[in-house]
Amino acid sequence: MQLQNGSNDDGLRIGRHSVDGDTLVYDPARSAAGSTNVELFSLTQFRKRAFPQRVVEARIEEIVDPAQRAEAEARYRDWAALKAERDRELERAQETSVARRHEHILENHRRFLEGNGIAYQGVQDSATKVTGGSRKRPKSACSRCTTPLDDFVGLRCVACGAVLCSCGACACAPARGTE
Ligand SMILES: [Zn+2]
Ligand SMILES: [Zn+2]
Repeated sequence: MQLQNGSNDDGLRIGRHSVDGDTLVYDPARSAAGSTNVELFSLTQFRKRAFPQRVVEARIEEIVDPAQRAEAEARYRDWAALKAERDRELERAQETSVARRHEHILENHRRFLEGNGIAYQGVQDSATKVTGGSRKRPKSACSRCTTPLDDFVGLRCVACGAVLCSCGACACAPARGTE
């Protein structure tokens, strides 16, 4: 992609990186003059990427197809909104996966209690203070699966006040041998 003497008046260049396929915009209005690297704007990552000029010339192919160019230009004009939309989607996906993981662990927790003949009393956010239970000394590793307890579930058993292991175990039941 050549940055000078292009056919467009505004000097906007849009190209595709021949290695990673990223669509990149060169905007002379935004690129710092006199720097050794050329700053391009990635339309897939919505952030600046800097390349040495020779890389821009050798590896980035200007998009000449009018429809593709128009589409890329529209994305460039709208990138802030598009990025916000994508960030929201990522956040939603993350929330969904956290919720699914919680559900799964809660199910294991109920089974764990059931298997030990203990009534399920509920769970609470592990960030809140312990409100009930016998306040057993926190264990550093799960007594059931021996996984080090790092509270990544973020939940504790209301009955014993221990954080839930990802396997669903709490401190309500003593360590069991191999299952
Ligand atoms: Zn465990
Ligand atoms: Zn418990």
